[in-house]
Amino acid sequence: MFWRSGWPASCRVLILLAALLLAAGTWAQADELIIHFIDVGQGDSILIQTPAGANILVDAGEAWAGTQVVVPYLEKLGIEALDMVVITHPHFDHIGGLIPVLETFPVGQVLADGQIHTSRTYEDLLILIDRKAIPFRLARAGDRLDIQGLDEVLVLNPREPFLKGLNNNSVVLALTYGMTSVLLTGDIEAEGEQRILAGDLITTANILKIAHHGSNTSSTIEFLEAVQPEIAIISAGADNRYGHPHPEALLNLEAVDSKVFQTSIVGTIMVVSDGMSYRIVVDD
Ligand SMILES: [Zn+2]
Repeated sequence: MFWRSGWPASCRVLILLAALLLAAGTWAQADELIIHFIDVGQGDSILIQTPAGANILVDAGEAWAGTQVVVPYLEKLGIEALDMVVITHPHFDHIGGLIPVLETFPVGQVLADGQIHTSRTYEDLLILIDRKAIPFRLARAGDRLDIQGLDEVLVLNPREPFLKGLNNNSVVLALTYGMTSVLLTGDIEAEGEQRILAGDLITTANILKIAHHGSNTSSTIEFLEAVQPEIAIISAGADNRYGHPHPEALLNLEAVDSKVFQTSIVGTIMVVSDGMSYRIVVDD
């Protein structure tokens, strides 16, 4: 499945090119940014491959997904090390899979929200990061990360003092490569979205990773109207017990004319950009 930016609205239809798709990874050119929204079921895992060859992983789904999906996915791409791993927040559907990832690949740096949480999984992850002596950096709104191959990586969230609830203090990143902009929102909810809107850092984005798997506690119309995403990506499990994505979130996305892609329907979703235009590739 294939969708290219810049086509007039009347042409914004999905053109099925599945039969023509080559194996994942072989269709991208060397100077392209590729963001993989890996299908980890109910959870998030996002791999960013920059045109300069940097590999950054944001979350890794639950523990089983880390072992059975994320690690094999990275290995299939020939990745031998990760320049950065981002922990958006300490919930198990984001960090569980990071333990097998960190046990498999050398990691240059961990960027995290730094919230206190006492689950066994989170403690095990922090112990592993410490044992491997991986540099640990806190992300705070306003920080700019120097990532080779990207024009800008801006942290929009969290801020201190923290908001109530782990979700609202998720690390939120705004990535820019040429004309392509991507917003990764972790699991922020309405309060987190509101704080970002009030923080004077928000920009529009071509592609928005919908917060909290499409829950109706996120994706407020005010936030979506500010971001104006052409593409909305929802990472959630098929028939998940939370009812994600919620019809209300989908209605809000419809109201701002976003084209929605869901991992639960199409599997892993890739955004590929040459800096001028981008395309959505679904490996089905
Ligand atoms: Zn989550």
